[in-house]
Amino acid sequence: MSSMELELNNLRSEALKEISSINSLDNLREIEIKYLGRKGVLNQLLKELSTAPLEERPELGGIINQIKLEIIREIESKRTLLEEREKAKKLEEERIDVTLPGMNISPGRLHPLTLIIERVEEIFRGLGFTVVEGFEMETDYYNFEALNIPWYHPARDTQDSFYITDKFLLRTQTSPVQIRVMEKTKPPFKIIAPGRVYRRDQPTARHSPVFHQIEGMAVDKDITFAHLKGTLDAFAHALFGSDVSTRFRADYFPFTEPSGEFAISCIFCKGKGCRVCSYSGWIEILGCGMVHPKVLEVGGIDPEEYSGFAFGMGWDRLAMLTYNINDIRFFLENHPEFLVQF
Ligand SMILES: [Zn+2]
Repeated sequence: MSSMELELNNLRSEALKEISSINSLDNLREIEIKYLGRKGVLNQLLKELSTAPLEERPELGGIINQIKLEIIREIESKRTLLEEREKAKKLEEERIDVTLPGMNISPGRLHPLTLIIERVEEIFRGLGFTVVEGFEMETDYYNFEALNIPWYHPARDTQDSFYITDKFLLRTQTSPVQIRVMEKTKPPFKIIAPGRVYRRDQPTARHSPVFHQIEGMAVDKDITFAHLKGTLDAFAHALFGSDVSTRFRADYFPFTEPSGEFAISCIFCKGKGCRVCSYSGWIEILGCGMVHPKVLEVGGIDPEEYSGFAFGMGWDRLAMLTYNINDIRFFLENHPEFLVQF
């Protein structure tokens, strides 16, 4: 065996030893480049063949190629092994323990005011009404003047309203929507307008500076008080049950004539008298009346040809009655413990 052959044998065993001791794919790539790269050990040896005696060259060349094939084979099998190992490690790291307790995601719920308005809108839609919306910031004209509330009326006291400027204020009632609808719509029409309203009230169990109203209006030829009574009766029976009694009593509002208050028999004591109904057996739920001819005129509707009725009720109060809630402030505070009950 020539000295070159001896050297090649040593190289072979050294390379195989190195490959077998490798533990990572990165190191394996380094070894691959070291032996098999373009400027690697084996290519270097093939170049040096030119310096060997001519008759030895074929044999030596054969040996070098054989070593090369052997190293390639070893590196490939080592690579397969390391890749398998890496994959198993990754799977282990990403393993999901299905027995661990899950995260508790509680589903959202509808606010009691939303639940009520959905029901109210459904009832009035069934009676042929359309749901419309107005602006929460209004002009003095739409909020008061057009509704027959003159400048000297106590309701216009700045102590009672949130004025933004001399002319603009946060609406104190949903009634301005009546005027805006009349200006744009030719009768006949029937609308309800639910929305948020604002008054300078100290928050108490019964009062809040932000609360909600539902406004209703119907205008057509020959609308009478009987239509108003029939509509509100149907509404009260649909919302509170067919066994409630209803009652109309005379009242006064600047924008309706005649005006009335509408009450239902107490749903808690069935009319016998309890704390909720102040022992009267009746619960007032809304104010109503025939639209004042002046208001129709302001809205561009001829009061000689058309008539209409209107009503307004406390949306919060409906929810308080329905769910037996005794403090209006709960609706704005939105404590999860409160909301989770509905
Ligand atoms: Zn009662």
